[in-house]
Amino acid sequence: MHSLTRRSVLSGTAAAGAAIAMPISARAVAPLAAKQAPSFYRYKLGDDEITIVHDGARSFPPPDIFVRNVSTDEALAAAEAAYMPKGMVTVPFNPTVINTGSKLVLIDSGYGPNIAPTVGLLPANMAAAGIDPKQIDIVVLSHLHPDHINGIRAADGSPAFPQAEIKVPAVDWAFWADEGNMNQAQGFMVDYFKNFHRVFDPIKGKLTKYEWGQDVGPGISALDTRGHTPGHTSFAVASGSAKVLIQSDVSNIPDLFLRHPDWQVMYDIDRNRRLRRATNSTTWPRRRRRPSSASIFRSHRSVMSRRTAPITGLCRRPGTERCRQGLSLAAASEVYDRGRWRALQAHLQPRRR
Ligand SMILES: [Zn+2]
Repeated sequence: MHSLTRRSVLSGTAAAGAAIAMPISARAVAPLAAKQAPSFYRYKLGDDEITIVHDGARSFPPPDIFVRNVSTDEALAAAEAAYMPKGMVTVPFNPTVINTGSKLVLIDSGYGPNIAPTVGLLPANMAAAGIDPKQIDIVVLSHLHPDHINGIRAADGSPAFPQAEIKVPAVDWAFWADEGNMNQAQGFMVDYFKNFHRVFDPIKGKLTKYEWGQDVGPGISALDTRGHTPGHTSFAVASGSAKVLIQSDVSNIPDLFLRHPDWQVMYDIDRNRRLRRATNSTTWPRRRRRPSSASIFRSHRSVMSRRTAPITGLCRRPGTERCRQGLSLAAASEVYDRGRWRALQAHLQPRRR
């Protein structure tokens, strides 16, 4: 066994002293990375593979009307409780890639280039996830706000997904393309209309408009969740017996608007309708003119029609403590699978002893 001698202690001390005495510049050789790790999350849905790819996030001091029916102080307290930077709200952006086996489908395209250093990360994170933009067959846009559409064009204006068919919701398109609506726009909406024309005018002859109830890709059905925008759309994705609901801006910032379904974010065009969507879970079609993959979700209607409505992770009686607890389970994401609905339901039901 090694014994500690006076000499070794002294020499060790001398070595430590030498290390401490080294000039700081000699040790600080690694430059600041200023980058996070690549960010994506991948899971299986039946035979499909789904990859949530992070486009980044923006933190900013919210304007007074950010939550229209709540004081800024209350909104910021909720943001701080969710570990957002003090005095700010953080909005995340997460497009979704679905590999159905026959098609590679991208839902929403992120903020695109030249907006801010913390967003427009979709191409880099797709590369990290091993997804080649040239292999995307279909880009489906949920609605036509900048943070969902800008990414279809690269920094030089060329198509970011050159082989892809671009699909836009027909109802939302009609709203944003209407000159009368543009002339009446105020505040941030003026810029949103301009952005719509900047992104789409050069390619509007090459777009495909889709309707609610249609399949926009293999096993991917478009569902009416209007309210945030007039044509805001969610997607029911099915593979075999596995199903998932993918939503974009029904809740905007889940930590705020899933926990407080009655809060109204400034970007909602029809706030009351968005609220009904969020709290009543009426997103699934009741009757369909023709069968599509969404019809298989009917089996969940018994779950939806109960006192609580876990299908969107939201309650019918917002504000109750039980509801708030349930929402926290869903707040991390706007993607809900069957297991999560059941977990929510179990959590929201009164306990029987
Ligand atoms: Zn939006």
